[in-house]
Amino acid sequence: MTTNDTKAKKTWRPATELVHGGTSRSQHGETSEALFLTQGFVYADAEAAEARFNGENPGFVYSRYANPTTAMFEDRMKVLEGAEAARATASGMAAVNLALMASVKAGDHVVAAKALFGSCRYIVETLLPRYGVESTLVDGTDLDQWKAAVKPNTAALFLESPTNPTLEVIDIAAVADIAHSVGARLIVDNVFATPIYQAPLTLGADVVVYSATKHIDGQGRCLGGIVLSDEEWIADEVMPFVKHTGPHMSPFNAWVLLKGLETLPLRVEKQTATAGRIADFLAGQSAVSRLIYPGRDDHPQADVAKRQMRAGSTMLAFEIDGGKEAAFRFTNALEIVKISNNLGDAKSLITHPATTTHQSIGEEARAELDISDGLLRLSIGLEDPEDLLEDIQGALDAIK
Ligand SMILES: *Cc1c(COP(=O)(O)O)cnc(C)c1O
Repeated sequence: MTTNDTKAKKTWRPATELVHGGTSRSQHGETSEALFLTQGFVYADAEAAEARFNGENPGFVYSRYANPTTAMFEDRMKVLEGAEAARATASGMAAVNLALMASVKAGDHVVAAKALFGSCRYIVETLLPRYGVESTLVDGTDLDQWKAAVKPNTAALFLESPTNPTLEVIDIAAVADIAHSVGARLIVDNVFATPIYQAPLTLGADVVVYSATKHIDGQGRCLGGIVLSDEEWIADEVMPFVKHTGPHMSPFNAWVLLKGLETLPLRVEKQTATAGRIADFLAGQSAVSRLIYPGRDDHPQADVAKRQMRAGSTMLAFEIDGGKEAAFRFTNALEIVKISNNLGDAKSLITHPATTTHQSIGEEARAELDISDGLLRLSIGLEDPEDLLEDIQGALDAIK
């Protein structure tokens, strides 16, 4: 490691940072980021090993603790997010689990918005209580419910915005104030908005987590996640947890994800422009009883969305008249849009939440979350918008 491009320089605009931020070149001066696919590191002599372990020499020790390629990914994400520190993980779920585990101890309390990615809900509702951390789920769009739920022992508030799959928008700044009124940390899962359109730390959140599996890779290859926050908490709580329990990101995945960051704004902006067009098209269809897109004025929380998001992002949700049967027929008639539970990909993907991602939560919880049998979630990819519109029109014709 000879040069670190970002440390000595002023900050650039995000698109520039996403290409150059965090780059740390080896003695060879390679153009592209180097992939250090290594478990460990060797030392010139025993004294050097001792100095590395006692912290006198801050180099690398073992890739479960830190790795040069993974560190480049973390540094680039830090610059993008405006965070002091970050730790990359093997998946988005490892990041969510890490953020929560590093925030709580037995006897603490957590409040989370009900509309959560299925596995996040499992951690909050099932796992945490098993270890003596009580949890309360609230309607995230109702600030009075957050206020009523926090207690003196509340250690963390957790939310996604927009939510999965109904794309509700939660007022991050207002929930941050409620968290801070009891000394709790607000953790925001920012996957659906992407770092291009929403900056939770500037809105008052304390921690941001991503599944890098989604838009950051954006081409369906690697799982990954990251936790971003302040220097002190990452050093004191997050680093030891990762070091001793091993949810770290593979250097290979970090390398793929670093390259993904270079094209993130291009992809997300193009996908968002197409998503807006498709949302407008679907809103005018008689077979569509409900269309939810955070970039439209008819979104239930349009005012909050305008305040905290720079655009509507790449996801939309809509309800097909005729329940599951019609939703399945529509989905099966699509040719370009693929049936998959993933999102943020270059390929457009459609999901029927009631029978897939939200099958296990049961009918009652689905009703509470407004996940009807006709609801479909659509992740817009990089295809030509005209082809996507024709594909969707063809599927609408098929269910007439
Ligand atoms: C996908 C996703 C996760 C989990 O990420 P993995 O990388 O699949 O573990 C968490 N939160 C949200 C909002 C997601 O979309």
